Amino acid sequence: MIRLERVSKIYESGGKKVEAVKDVSLHIKKGDIFGIIGFSGAGKSTLLRLVNLLERPTTGNIIVDNYDLNSISSKDLRQLRRKIGMIFQTFNLFNSRTVYGNIAYPLKLEKKSKEEIHQRVTELLQFVGLEDKADKFPEQLSGGQKQRVGIARALATSPDILLCDEATSALDPETTNEILNLLKKVNEEFNITILLITHEMNVIRKICNRVAVMENGRIIEEGEVFNIFSNP
Ligand code: ADP
Ligand code: ADP
Repeated sequence: MIRLERVSKIYESGGKKVEAVKDVSLHIKKGDIFGIIGFSGAGKSTLLRLVNLLERPTTGNIIVDNYDLNSISSKDLRQLRRKIGMIFQTFNLFNSRTVYGNIAYPLKLEKKSKEEIHQRVTELLQFVGLEDKADKFPEQLSGGQKQRVGIARALATSPDILLCDEATSALDPETTNEILNLLKKVNEEFNITILLITHEMNVIRKICNRVAVMENGRIIEEGEVFNIFSNP
């Protein structure tokens, strides 16, 4: 589903070079909940942005859904972007739009009819348990509810892959568990492959089947969560 082959990313800022990702190879299979864990500055967000087509690697190859990102056409790129959903630590909702409007947004961009949008948004509101919040604005919601909206919006175009950028880091432990359970349901019910980055071990333990440990731009360990983080 997602394959990185010897990927490096070098940033140049103010004449200084920062190698944020160094020679990373990874294979994320369809249906995986794959976690990347590491301290701040390890290169996790850069890796996620590379997979999300927001950044290009300096060297190496990235293959997503059988498309080689080095040689993908702009038409296929547009197609592929629809197949990747993303959620964020700070939710990134549109504050001036209602819950309904936030979830409808990606479908509006695709010029879906009002009826189609209504059907899909209703379905998604039900899936994330926010049927009664359709007309609320983000500021009227709790953190957990905002992330549910984020998840519904990310799922609107029926992606194959969901990228999660520290999606529970702003939430208390109980709400974190609720959101992690919801992500597990996303993975199981829709067979969506999940790639998440986190600095929290409990997130990895709770929902991931595979994990890579990142340090200074490199993957220093990778495998089944059970093998890497088995209790001593
Ligand atoms: P993490 O997500 O694990 O905290 P990042 O991918 O954000 O790590 O950062 C990895 C390294 O790359 C850090 O040293 C960071 O300062 C640097 N970096 C990230 N983005 C940029 C950028 N746009 N320009 C320059 N340096 C960057
Ligand atoms: P926007 O996101 O465009 O700023 P809204 O969030 O108010 O605006 O709604 C977007 C569209 O969805 C509008 O056409 C509106 O009629 C419709 N809509 C908004 N809320 C609901 C709802 N609860 N049920 C059905 N349709 C809705």
